[in-house]
Amino acid sequence: MYCENCARIVEKDRCPFCGNRKLRNPEAKDPCFLTEQDFVSSGILEDVLRQNGIPFLKKNVMGDGLSVYVGPMLDRSRFYVLYERLPEAESVVNDLFAPAEEDGAPDPDSADLPFPGEDEGAEES
Ligand SMILES: [Zn+2]
Repeated sequence: MYCENCARIVEKDRCPFCGNRKLRNPEAKDPCFLTEQDFVSSGILEDVLRQNGIPFLKKNVMGDGLSVYVGPMLDRSRFYVLYERLPEAESVVNDLFAPAEEDGAPDPDSADLPFPGEDEGAEES
């Protein structure tokens, strides 16, 4: 399922990141959260995604205003790709960074939202 709030693909009928229950099936053109990387890795990933012809959206986590103070080297970027390109993009990321985290692992900043992982009656439309 797809959470519009977070632009993430989630396995459950409720978003583990924001608690949103109004999830829907992802569509090909939905932007999907791919990964978050630091400044250096972001540059590398950008290059590789371009080389693979995968369109992406990049958002600075801190925003332009704040990165003026801390410097762009400390900023982090979040990458979003179209749902239809997500598997490709994920394999690019895995090849590049071989992340320790499993898919769907909760972000540190949403760790206060433990998801029980029990199916409490899927809301089927
Ligand atoms: Zn969400």
